[in-house]
Amino acid sequence: MLIGSSTPLRDCSFIQSKTLNALLPLGFETVGDVLRHPPKRYENRKLFDHISHDIESTPLCLQVRVLSGQWKKSGAYRRYYEILVEDVASPFLTQIACRWFNFPGIGKIIISGMTLILYGRIKRMGATLSMIHPDFELIEDIDQSEDSLHFNRLVPIYRGTGGLPQKRYRELVYDLLARLPDHPDTPTVQRNLYPSLRKLHFPEREEDSKEARRYFSMEECFLQQLGILHRRANRQELSGLKTASTTALVKDLADSLPFSLTESQKSCIREIYRDMKSPRPMNRLLQGDVGSGKTLVALCAALMAIESGYQVAFMAPTQILAEQHFATASKLLAPLDIKILLKTSDKVEQTQGWGQALRPQLVIGTHALLYDDTLFEHLGLVIIDEQHKFGVRQRQSLIDKGANPDVLVMTATPIPRTLTLTLYGDLDLSLLTEKPLNRGKIVTAVRNQKEKDLKPIVKFLREEIDKGHQIFVVAPLIEKRESPPDEDLIPPPRSKKKPSTSSALSELEAWKKRLPNIDIGLVHGKMSADEKESVMNEFRLNRYSVLVSTTVIEVGVDIPNATVMLIHNADQFGLSQLHQLRGRIGRGEHASYCILLTPLKDGEENFDKLKRFEIIQDGFELAELDFQLRGPGEVFGAAQSGLSSINFPEWLSDGDILKNARTKAERILKLDPSLSLAEHADFRTALERDPQWNEDFLSN
Ligand code: ADP
Ligand code: MG
Repeated sequence: MLIGSSTPLRDCSFIQSKTLNALLPLGFETVGDVLRHPPKRYENRKLFDHISHDIESTPLCLQVRVLSGQWKKSGAYRRYYEILVEDVASPFLTQIACRWFNFPGIGKIIISGMTLILYGRIKRMGATLSMIHPDFELIEDIDQSEDSLHFNRLVPIYRGTGGLPQKRYRELVYDLLARLPDHPDTPTVQRNLYPSLRKLHFPEREEDSKEARRYFSMEECFLQQLGILHRRANRQELSGLKTASTTALVKDLADSLPFSLTESQKSCIREIYRDMKSPRPMNRLLQGDVGSGKTLVALCAALMAIESGYQVAFMAPTQILAEQHFATASKLLAPLDIKILLKTSDKVEQTQGWGQALRPQLVIGTHALLYDDTLFEHLGLVIIDEQHKFGVRQRQSLIDKGANPDVLVMTATPIPRTLTLTLYGDLDLSLLTEKPLNRGKIVTAVRNQKEKDLKPIVKFLREEIDKGHQIFVVAPLIEKRESPPDEDLIPPPRSKKKPSTSSALSELEAWKKRLPNIDIGLVHGKMSADEKESVMNEFRLNRYSVLVSTTVIEVGVDIPNATVMLIHNADQFGLSQLHQLRGRIGRGEHASYCILLTPLKDGEENFDKLKRFEIIQDGFELAELDFQLRGPGEVFGAAQSGLSSINFPEWLSDGDILKNARTKAERILKLDPSLSLAEHADFRTALERDPQWNEDFLSN
């Protein structure tokens, strides 16, 4: 059977149904989908490494013989499997002990006498060398001949194989490649596609794989740009609404505020006004660091639309945030007599003085807004807060409740500025460059989280509480013993050396002891919406001096009286996330303190990161740094789970690729705006199959 990159896997009769069933849930539908999923690394099985005492930093690929294998105990409950191995080529060298935790069947898979290929980092524990959870492949069933697929070459290793063993998956990829013709038959633009696929999976030299990855990151970037430009062009054809005319309400609001708007806020409001006044649908991104006052700008936009007789939808990603916006809006807009409704999945609430029969003018809510068809009759403006927390489909379905309404999306800074321009290239940008002036300074400090080192901190917190201020205490987990999410087939080991990670529940108990007679609240993601709300309300009203929480308070929460953010195991958070957390304080006029607790010591990798966070205040700068330190893949992968649609994140940090891709996309769209030429058919299919993919990875 001859296949092409777009052949559906279902039509490939040579693929066994068991294999097919493993692939489809991964989102692989076509041959091209499988082949565009790149190896995570290659093993050079022509030339194995050797066991060495002085290499602890780089992972090694070893060919070893298993000398013994047995289950051992670790503590009261846990068991691990340990094998002792020797280097096949130099058995006189030191042996190493390999351990697997949480891997019940492994005792039957690896037995003594076998030969294995191992990949992992060597650790020295006293006199013994060990590897924890190395990747392995049995050589027993590997054909070791010259032209073997699994030996004597650079061998691809994949992540996310849907439970298929590496070997089976590799054979499938090889088989698919072998069935492809030399070149795709039609489009000349894709001349290099099949050769590049071959180089990607079975490179002869390392450079081949780099070259191939460059090809595919260009392809990916190009499609992303094509999607954005295409959408922008389509939108410009739409006729929208004139949702602003006069601005009496905005002036009333501004006059009633106890402070004046910043110059940045004013200029953003002007830009928004200009857009809303025009009949072209607005698509604007309001970007500004945490605490720059985006909500107020959004409320001004809402007032313009309301004054022109339109309804406004204001969507936030969490219950806590929606409640907060409702409270803020109710308070600020009370003198203006605006009909405001709060709608979350458990709750509907409205401001006083207007009946059920009337339509709300401003509806604030969570994604629950999406499932109510009765709210909007003439929706003129859609506002989406922390928009990176929503999927494109969710955003679109809110927009679809009106007839091409104006759209204002807001975000703090999850990504570097240069990237914003490219990734959000279809949006107009308004930037809040300054923060309100009345802000107290934020001091950031890294401290060891050993109990004895906490003493002075406890004393300091007590002083803050005595001044009437409030404190956030954040921990990475809700409860102890939550298992980390499994990424690969094999669950990662839980190193016993590492002190265990703080949890909100354990910190609640600990802080009750450290601060007796102080009221301490608890909020986390597993609590019901009602519970969360009541705790947040109590905290807002200063009935709790301390709020222990997980990252549910990460985005948006605004409690100006809170002056301390204490983060346990701060090393486990990304820089952008820490910045979001720090953004919860310093919102009033008091000086504020962000204390990062960590078990790490000076010189350790992540400690350094925290030290840099101490001195950098600017969200954009931190986003940039986060990006450099962890690489685009990690930043988007960990923080934004939708990354699955980006296979080749290199392009995110490669200005040349970005520029070329944009130019090329512009040229093609100019020539063929609807992508109807035969040679562009593949591009159109790519965009049609998943018209949102180009934005999806920015959401989680
Ligand atoms: P973010 O941009 O992070 O969403 P918010 O909109 O929550 O920030 O605003 C943070 C705080 O700043 C709020 O308490 C808000 O009332 C206050 N604020 C907004 N604009 C100003 C201003 N011009 N002067 C003083 N305080 C302001
Ligand atoms: Mg906000």
